[in-house]
Amino acid sequence: MLNRRLTSPKDLVEAGLAGPERIQQLEAVASHYAIGLTPALAALVRSEDPSDPIARQFAPDARELIRDPAERDDPIGDDAMSPVKGLVHRYPDRVLIKLVAVCAVYCRFCFRRERVGPGSGALGGAEFAAAVDYVRADEGIWEVILTGGDPLTLSPRRIAEVTKAFAAIDHVKVLRWHTRLPVAAPEQVTKAMARALVAEGKTTVVAVHANHARELTEGARSACRRLAAEGAMLVSQTVLLKGVNDDPETLIDLMRAFVEARVKPYYLHHGDLAPGTAHWRVSIARGQELMRLLRARLSGLAMPTYMLDIPGGHGKAPIGPQWIHCGEDGEHLVTDPRGNEHAYADRLGADSERVAQP
Ligand code: SF4
Repeated sequence: MLNRRLTSPKDLVEAGLAGPERIQQLEAVASHYAIGLTPALAALVRSEDPSDPIARQFAPDARELIRDPAERDDPIGDDAMSPVKGLVHRYPDRVLIKLVAVCAVYCRFCFRRERVGPGSGALGGAEFAAAVDYVRADEGIWEVILTGGDPLTLSPRRIAEVTKAFAAIDHVKVLRWHTRLPVAAPEQVTKAMARALVAEGKTTVVAVHANHARELTEGARSACRRLAAEGAMLVSQTVLLKGVNDDPETLIDLMRAFVEARVKPYYLHHGDLAPGTAHWRVSIARGQELMRLLRARLSGLAMPTYMLDIPGGHGKAPIGPQWIHCGEDGEHLVTDPRGNEHAYADRLGADSERVAQP
């Protein structure tokens, strides 16, 4: 197993994750977007498979330089909702704080790809203090979401400082950390880091990003167990990606693997309109079909919600298939997991209208 992170086209070629004939193509993409692949994820790559779903997520592709007219640098509209640097206030009861702009790995479909990468700065001391002041001043803020980049790339000492700063605000009840580290570098999710994330009297949630069941190795599952053992609630995040997980069997395996690792499946994201990511996106119709197939096969415990982040900063909306609609005579028609429709009488009449019970 490799013992260092791969950060350049040369590294990828030397590690056998890309053929030498691709070096020019890789260099062209790398001049725009960062490369990062950790030993833990590189070890999962089956290099004999040209469409390996792990390699595809991290090895640059020439199509990243093709920009669809609908794509934008800030696809989910963070900038329009940012009252102070690094803080996004889109919904009344929660804010998102981008603590760092670096990640352990650089996903080729990243929705913040124009903003993340080495050399992109972390929130400075004064900027962080301004973000804390903003949260303290608004008593409607119930949840603080720490993101980036990947905020778990910070040291446990710095993470503990961040936790302490927000835990000291009475009206903040929930701290949610978004991270890929439990799968990208599980050995870095130590007991000390897990402790740094939690605070007495507050709920800590860790949203773990993984896109394929193979990412949930025994090491990754142990990292999740360490987080859960310190009291964190774990939820998942997955991006629906063409050629990686856009088939029912792969999604079923992934959602079950999350639950087995104590991670509640939460969001299956429709791909955002980030630059150069059209080749990753799956149609919404196909996404809905996949959700129907999952519903027929998976325990409700393992079902994610299929979500679209509306471009322009308008927030998220669930876009999964509808299971109920009104028929011509006003009766409700409900679809069962096998796809059969059944009439449902939605009766709320006065007591006198109900059939008397013997
Ligand atoms: S870990 Fe998240 S923020 Fe970092 S590159 Fe991947 S998708 Fe982007």
